[in-house]
Amino acid sequence: MAWFSKKPRIAPQDPEVDRDQPSRMQGLWAKCEECDEIIYRQEIEKNLNVCPACGHHMPWPARARLTAILDPSTFEEMDQQLEPQDPLSFTDSKKYRDRLRSTRKSTAESDAFVSGVGRIEGKQVSVGCFVFEFMGGSMGSVVGEKVTRVFERAHDLKCAAVIFSASGGARMQEGIFSLMQMAKTSAAIARFREVRRPYVSVMLHPTTGGVAASFAWLGDVIIAEPKALIGFAGPRVIEQTIRQKLPEGFQRSEFLHEHGMLDAIVHRKELRQKLGQLLGLMA
Ligand SMILES: [Zn+2]
Repeated sequence: MAWFSKKPRIAPQDPEVDRDQPSRMQGLWAKCEECDEIIYRQEIEKNLNVCPACGHHMPWPARARLTAILDPSTFEEMDQQLEPQDPLSFTDSKKYRDRLRSTRKSTAESDAFVSGVGRIEGKQVSVGCFVFEFMGGSMGSVVGEKVTRVFERAHDLKCAAVIFSASGGARMQEGIFSLMQMAKTSAAIARFREVRRPYVSVMLHPTTGGVAASFAWLGDVIIAEPKALIGFAGPRVIEQTIRQKLPEGFQRSEFLHEHGMLDAIVHRKELRQKLGQLLGLMA
């Protein structure tokens, strides 16, 4: 058959359409953003979302973290009914109300914080963990109230408080109501100190803005995960203000630990055991 009489092949599909077609392989593999290794997703999950090749700590969902760190089936969630309001009727590129509605739908969480009581290696704790997927773990009135209640519960139960922070800072959409949470949570810690129980703050990647500048850095013991970004303002803002080049690794756990701002950097695999040990010594 001559080449010119060949039937044209079926035209390739529009790549835009193609992208929406679910592939059978989609979601099975993930690429580590640190070492570019392609890894079987199940393998990563089994490894507590830590890259098995290079040890890079990937984001770990709040509920999975609480399940893994607390003793099996001891976590009792509280304050689920608290839902954010829109006191300023705020609108940026989107209405705050609409943003909340769509985030609630995509994350299945009511706000950026999950809290309750549980046990770590047998010791009772009042515990909370940020949901970074919910608007960058930003702290609005609800997150501030939930954090405050973590300390109030620890006060009433005379037990230790543990908070895992991962936040972009204050929730801009709530304006001054969001900033007030810094003072409110810090005051709650001062009250909690009356019962002389420990507060362990665990800083995850990233812990910045108003969260770093209030309760996250007020822990009796402050722990961070490796290579977490921790600080108040971003490096560019600081460079512009002080007109100096910042040193290598500035605002990362390792740098802060070296300069006495953190007590320890703990690998995720050892976190549960280390918390148990600390609570055993102090609680
Ligand atoms: Zn890796």
